[in-house]
Amino acid sequence: MHNTEQKFHTKNNVCVFDVNRIRNDFPILCCNVNDKPLVYLDNAASAQKPSVVIEAMNYALRHEYSNVHRGIHYLSNAATQRFEDTRETCRVFLNARHSDEIIFTKNATEAINLVALTWGMNNLQQDDEIILSIMEHHANIVPWHFLRERKGAIIKWALVDDDGTFDLDQFEKLITPRTKVVSLTHMSNVLGTVIPIKEVIRIAHQHNIMVFVDAAQSAVHMSVDVRDLDADFLCFSGHKVYGPSGIGVLYGKREFLNNLPPFLGGGAMIENVTTDNVTYGPPPSRFEAGTPAIVEAVGLTAALNYMIKSDRQAIATHENSLTLYAQEQLKAFNWLRIHGTTRNKGGIVSFTVDGLHPHDISMVIDRSGVAIRAGHLCTQPLMQHYGITAMCRASFGMYNTFRDIDIFVEALEKAYNLFK
Ligand code: PMP
Repeated sequence: MHNTEQKFHTKNNVCVFDVNRIRNDFPILCCNVNDKPLVYLDNAASAQKPSVVIEAMNYALRHEYSNVHRGIHYLSNAATQRFEDTRETCRVFLNARHSDEIIFTKNATEAINLVALTWGMNNLQQDDEIILSIMEHHANIVPWHFLRERKGAIIKWALVDDDGTFDLDQFEKLITPRTKVVSLTHMSNVLGTVIPIKEVIRIAHQHNIMVFVDAAQSAVHMSVDVRDLDADFLCFSGHKVYGPSGIGVLYGKREFLNNLPPFLGGGAMIENVTTDNVTYGPPPSRFEAGTPAIVEAVGLTAALNYMIKSDRQAIATHENSLTLYAQEQLKAFNWLRIHGTTRNKGGIVSFTVDGLHPHDISMVIDRSGVAIRAGHLCTQPLMQHYGITAMCRASFGMYNTFRDIDIFVEALEKAYNLFK
């Protein structure tokens, strides 16, 4: 059992991180599941929401709801103001230069599709090359497969070592004069590996290659600074950063966005429409056709402000301690294999158990109130790379405790004994 005193991290003897105080902000954590207190370890799939997010959305629906960018009445102006406040909050969160570099999408997936199907369709020719890593989520594979299918582009794969470390040398060797795109996850949703993305971008830019960063996993665990990274495009999803589902963010450098054609057509993205012609508005509206996720944007502001105001370094330290503790506990089982133990990793521990299907494990430990993810984790190329079809994944958020891990490990051991 872990010494629960360690729930406090201190800096100069001042308590900077109190996990119990944080837990009080998340109402769902008080729930019982299968008559057991919830142990939520599926944060990489979607994180739980603090009260400030729930209340901000509730308030918007009760008092400030209308469509945005359309009406000129009081409620429309108020809702539009809140919506544009979110754009500014996202700009601050990512340290972008301009708020018009922030595009709202449905999720990270739509953001990647937007860039592949606009920039990619315009700039890629037959035999041009796209570099992805073998640990990409399908969201950062399938849109590029579209370009393979439709434009004859070639996808090349950057590999990871056995422990999940990104192989920077091998990546560099993949670059040729035909490489036009590098699109990589900042942090793997399976191995937890954090790619040295700043270095990757520096190398790619030396060859004039456009770089897309999928920050769907990293945005919640570390500060992501698009200017420091010099990313050309970057995306994340609201629901993984303690905000609502239904809203995602695409960052694009102004010079890229200005030259992109629209993605979807409809209301709000035009400059002028006649019976035989259409001209398009400037970014960001050019890429935001139709009624956007109005209330979700309000929730996203609340979530990002919640994170901006918290001590992100203390949270990262806590999540890192949880990860190391979980790995230590699991290493004691000789019937279990951890996938991804590289030093530079975020709060994810994926594993397989000899002779047991991950779905069975997940189902059995659910009876103890423990929620983990099991399956191919939307990363089939990575599963093929390791010669398996599925894994279990425990993933941590700021509100998880060492006790959560003790309960999870105990439930896992029981499940193994049950099936063995
Ligand atoms: N990229 C990564 C690394 C992810 O983990 C995920 C979600 N699991 C996505 C992209 C897609 O995110 P969304 O489903 O919110 O579009």
